[in-house]
Amino acid sequence: MAILEIRIVPDPILKIKAHKIKKIDDSIKTLALDMFETLQDAHGVGLAANQVGVLKRVIVISNAPESDIVAYINPEITNRKGKRSVSEGCLSFPGYSGIVTRSISVSARYIDEAGGKIKITASDLLSQALEHEIDHLNGILFIDYLSKLKKDMIIKKLVKQKKGIERVIV
Ligand code: ZN
Repeated sequence: MAILEIRIVPDPILKIKAHKIKKIDDSIKTLALDMFETLQDAHGVGLAANQVGVLKRVIVISNAPESDIVAYINPEITNRKGKRSVSEGCLSFPGYSGIVTRSISVSARYIDEAGGKIKITASDLLSQALEHEIDHLNGILFIDYLSKLKKDMIIKKLVKQKKGIERVIV
């Protein structure tokens, strides 16, 4: 297993739609394992493959309070119920969060690592994480739901931080 580099905004890969996986082979299983390790290392709730630079439809979610991490291959939301305002952050936006509207519960289908077709209904944090991570696979970021002003401010600050880090390395 390996810890992968998490891409930070404005990395363009975060805005590209990931491709559907046709065959679950060893490369997909290795990707899922590496994403588990990366998520644990970053103490995050969820991670999408775009965030580690891979345009494949895989997400991993740590299902708090249990420590198990589940890999969802080709996940799709099939139904959404209700609306609620939630505070949300993202590993690709270190240090930032915003209030977004999410569903109260969602139904989703996905393929597990053994190739099984799974259907679930989720609420609370799992529902929010499924919406957030599946958005990633479609090139949508949580800041896309914020006001243009707040979105521009966050991106500007992250670009500035990134430049600062590069100067130190050079
Ligand atoms: Zn995210």
